[in-house]
Amino acid sequence: MPFDKASVRDAEVDGKRVLVRVDFNVPLDGQEVTDDTRIRAALPTIEYLTGAGAKVILCSHLGRPKGQVVPELSLAPAARRLSELTGKPVEVASDVGGEDSRAKADQLEPGGILLLENTRYEAGETDNDPDLAGRLAGLADLYVNDAFGAAHRAHASTAGVAGELPAYAGLLLEKEVENLTSVAAEPERPLVVVLGGSKVSDKVGVIDRFLEIADQILIGGAMCFPFFKAQGHSIGNSLCQDDDIPLAEDALRKAAAGNCELVLPTDLTLGREFSADTETEALPGTDVPDGWMGLDIGPESATDYASRIASAGTVLWNGPMGAFELDPFAGGTRTVAEAVAAADGFTVVGGGDSVAALVKFNLTEDVDWVSTGGGASLELLEGKTLPGVDALKDR
Ligand code: ADP
Ligand code: MG
Repeated sequence: MPFDKASVRDAEVDGKRVLVRVDFNVPLDGQEVTDDTRIRAALPTIEYLTGAGAKVILCSHLGRPKGQVVPELSLAPAARRLSELTGKPVEVASDVGGEDSRAKADQLEPGGILLLENTRYEAGETDNDPDLAGRLAGLADLYVNDAFGAAHRAHASTAGVAGELPAYAGLLLEKEVENLTSVAAEPERPLVVVLGGSKVSDKVGVIDRFLEIADQILIGGAMCFPFFKAQGHSIGNSLCQDDDIPLAEDALRKAAAGNCELVLPTDLTLGREFSADTETEALPGTDVPDGWMGLDIGPESATDYASRIASAGTVLWNGPMGAFELDPFAGGTRTVAEAVAAADGFTVVGGGDSVAALVKFNLTEDVDWVSTGGGASLELLEGKTLPGVDALKDR
């Protein structure tokens, strides 16, 4: 689907001060960034801008400091990692659009990089406060949003500031929106959607939309159990939120009345408890006995899902098939991940834990698009407009 927002490539950036919202919300261990995927994902835009002679002023949130300065959530470790990746010095301002930001932004040379402190050190960030948006805008001549992972939030640095400056899409954000919207807009058929994870309520919007669009929806993970409960199966101690049962009933009703096949597992792998060294049992059906919990889809289901994925024209996968963090229950997720990686169709994977599973099995390179946005990718897949995208200049 053509992306209808102005791209950073359309902007005149040489010698200009460019404020770039990135998603550097990375996991930290003390002063170390333990996973730099999001920093790497922002490199194309950052390097495009420095290469074009822009003065690059980056901003991002990290964690939830809730309007307070929390030194453990400083972006300084992210700046060091970015400096290693770009081979350029990356200055850090001690505030978010305050005096130090202004002073350091004034000293930037073309091609130079400055990173502001954690935007959520300011309460005005999540309130989308016009004062904070104005201070951020005052640092720059134009604005680029490349923080796809935060684009579903209407915050000062994602939405407010875009109203104050000419606002463009970054290269990552642009690709995320193009790839994720193409799954629903113009899929090669059959379109197979694989949904797992822990809660139906997180993904009910995606289920509803794709019941209208997809050819098959394959359900795995703890998400199965509200469906099984709704069908009258026993679920033992399996994870199941009562609120999810009516949502599952509703989806089953819609599926029965529509053209999309809603597929549930036919076998399960059980454990006594959520632990890697618990007693395990293969269940050749879906009635979980008392004292057991379903922690993975079984091998028969995994093989069936894999063959459906193999014959798909388009595959969208969000949510692991089981408690893949625990080795005895990683089999279903591994089989599905390998099938997605090997599929001939166009493959898109979203969701923090699903992406972590791909990383664990070393398969990220074999998927056509791995989304960096959890909540943002779900909202886009639900068909919602993201405030951080909506606020950008039309093409
Ligand atoms: P994603 O981040 O990919 O959207 P979710 O956050 O929805 O995925 O779900 C991932 C979590 O679901 C994982 O922590 C996994 O352990 C858990 N999970 C999956 N299947 C089960 C299950 N059968 N029982 C308990 N937890 C499960
Ligand atoms: Mg998750």
